[in-house]
Amino acid sequence: MSIVSTSLSRIKASPTVAITQKARELKEQGKEVITLSSGEPDFDTPDNIKQAAIKAINKGDTKYTAVDGTPDLKKAIVQKFKRENNLEFKTENITVGTGGKQVIYNCILATVNPGDEVIIPSPFWVSYPDIVLLAGGVPKIVECGEKYNFKINGELLEKAITKKTKWFILNSPGNPTGMCYLRSELTDIVKVLKKHPHVYILTDDIYEHIFYEEDNRSNDDKFINILEVAEDLRNRTVIVNGVSKSYSMTGWRIGYGAASKEIIQAVSKLQSQSTTNPSSISQAAAVEALNGTQSFIKERSAEFKKRRDYVVKELNSIKGLSCVNPKGAFYVFPSCKNTMGKKTVAGTIIKTDTDFVSNLLDQEGVAVVQGSAFGLEGYFRISYATSMNELQKAILKIRKFCESLS
Ligand code: PLP
Repeated sequence: MSIVSTSLSRIKASPTVAITQKARELKEQGKEVITLSSGEPDFDTPDNIKQAAIKAINKGDTKYTAVDGTPDLKKAIVQKFKRENNLEFKTENITVGTGGKQVIYNCILATVNPGDEVIIPSPFWVSYPDIVLLAGGVPKIVECGEKYNFKINGELLEKAITKKTKWFILNSPGNPTGMCYLRSELTDIVKVLKKHPHVYILTDDIYEHIFYEEDNRSNDDKFINILEVAEDLRNRTVIVNGVSKSYSMTGWRIGYGAASKEIIQAVSKLQSQSTTNPSSISQAAAVEALNGTQSFIKERSAEFKKRRDYVVKELNSIKGLSCVNPKGAFYVFPSCKNTMGKKTVAGTIIKTDTDFVSNLLDQEGVAVVQGSAFGLEGYFRISYATSMNELQKAILKIRKFCESLS
């Protein structure tokens, strides 16, 4: 009999980590590999944030802190919500965890009973279904394909809700598609949620600051949180956010959540028996990230936007591929459906997006992630959080691969 528990056997290791690992192995064998599979900004953490961490170390901020965050960081988070989202919270509504992922994990583990359903629109961030499974819940995947612009709408949501629905997870800007919900789309979703008061909402806003203002600006050209559309959903909504993506701080592991006091206390109880508090030094750095200059966000977004424009234009000119133009995150999600049934130079027939991705890696040394890992077949995800130079090389190789198919 295996030592592995039955709940752990229900989940898989993160597929995005798996492809990055395969790329690393090829590199170690001396092959040139361009990695477009990882979900982190290539920019370094801004210097003012690093300095705040150094100061904290020198000052002796090296001990346990309050389980769910230092008072300073909680205050900075409250101010962030007021300043950027026009939402009022008290510090008792805030929890800080070791990355946004831990906040989501805690929240689901602390609230889901066996058999409870969690609605997850697909394509989705790979961790949502597995976290739900670990909690003994049932991921209820709602396919939101390209014809829906990869977004759920009121009608699809209504069909998915049952008496057993506990949570509905919303992610905007979204991983893996980069799509963002507009005010009108959130209004449509809110109408349905108001009819079903037993459904809780988890909104994952981790990519909030990677959101592009287009040249022809409209009222929709601003990130919007579901509570800005319907403040009355507040008691059953958890906002998850963090500093990982916004401030290039993935390795520092600080994420946070805002919710009712009841949920925050449950999350804190769980965290007190696992990781205790997030790193004291990282929390001091996160205070500076939130309270200090925000110029980094604008400068970095402008650079990401240039890359998005380049990548989307090029992908759409490659035989067999097509790509919608997303408004945020640092991902694009092109279709490779038109390459299905074609033969590679090595003689393999491409039957699935996984075949496409693994042959692209073997033949041209470009690492991307298959759409099926995110719950939607026929696509692949490119992370353009890498230099323009690398992107140009990668695009040439993707073009060469697609043109070599017969
Ligand atoms: N939510 C989404 C949609 C993500 O893509 C990620 C990271 O890839 C996270 C949450 C977790 O972020 P963190 O690094 O803060 O744990």
